[in-house]
Amino acid sequence: MADPTDKVRRGTKERDGERCVACGTQWGLTFQHRRAVGQGGSSLRPGYADGLAACGPCNARFEADMQTLALLNGWKVRRWVKDPARVPYYHSASGRWYALTDDGPWRVHIPRAEAVEMMLAVYGPDAREGAA
Ligand SMILES: [Zn+2]
Repeated sequence: MADPTDKVRRGTKERDGERCVACGTQWGLTFQHRRAVGQGGSSLRPGYADGLAACGPCNARFEADMQTLALLNGWKVRRWVKDPARVPYYHSASGRWYALTDDGPWRVHIPRAEAVEMMLAVYGPDAREGAA
């Protein structure tokens, strides 16, 4: 997957409250690709739902020791998920779950129960344990 446009990069950061979705810091924010980068040589540019604001250290940890947590919180999306907007994400700084859209840099606060339902719809019952 190609790099996001500056507009998407900026919009994503603003949408996420200029804070890392995982640890809440305002420093060293990066564009976190929710789907693994580089799959199949796609030249598609990531949209708003493809990315999150995450600090450099957390971004790296999502691929390492925080991988499972990142999947359960929607910070990472399984690579076979075609539409990442179907997967909500948890925003640690506000303690809330949000649904995303590719239409613009917007997010909608949803109750945790709805987030669980969305996760179940995408991943099936195996997601229940972690998302609850
Ligand atoms: Zn962080």
